[in-house]
Amino acid sequence: MTDSKPRWRFVGRLCLDFAMTGGRGKWAHFERLGRPQDLRDWFLQGPLQLDDVGVDDDELRAAGDLREAIQRVAFALLAQQPLAREHVAVLNTFAAAPPIVRALDPQTQTLSITTPVSVEALLSELARDALALAADPQARGRVRQCQSPDCQLLFFDDSRPGKRRWCSAGRCGDRARARAYRARRAVRGNEAVNNPEEEA
Ligand SMILES: [Zn+2]
Repeated sequence: MTDSKPRWRFVGRLCLDFAMTGGRGKWAHFERLGRPQDLRDWFLQGPLQLDDVGVDDDELRAAGDLREAIQRVAFALLAQQPLAREHVAVLNTFAAAPPIVRALDPQTQTLSITTPVSVEALLSELARDALALAADPQARGRVRQCQSPDCQLLFFDDSRPGKRRWCSAGRCGDRARARAYRARRAVRGNEAVNNPEEEA
């Protein structure tokens, strides 16, 4: 983790975090999982925080297939449109694999993931999270798209009022506020030019 700026964002919902790591076609320019090592890093730095997940090329390709299906489903949820059967079928297929296993530590009473973990089990976990999201009437209405024009990531709005506009209040929210401020100043500047006598 020597990168000065993060390669990916984690915005509070496992399947959406994963879905926003790049893509195919028009999204290929922001691909963040180009190599097996990248997916390995994502599992380590992401919410699951798993060290030492071995990823090969076939597994990376499978992850890309799953990610595309999650993206399509998530955008359909965002638009409140019916889900396409073929994308749901991909999610169901990945989710059918045995998932990761968690064990309770009797002393700390916390759950930890039993290792080693296969990529297949991790993709199952991601697919199951997407299924749970799509099947939950409350949750699926909380899929949002960041309103920052240079971001547009999908995120899960877990705020109580459900009115979040940006994937991260700090990054995109601050930028949007700065842009709005500059726009207001520009408008005032024009008014001053048009009505110089009114400018105090
Ligand atoms: Zn954003």
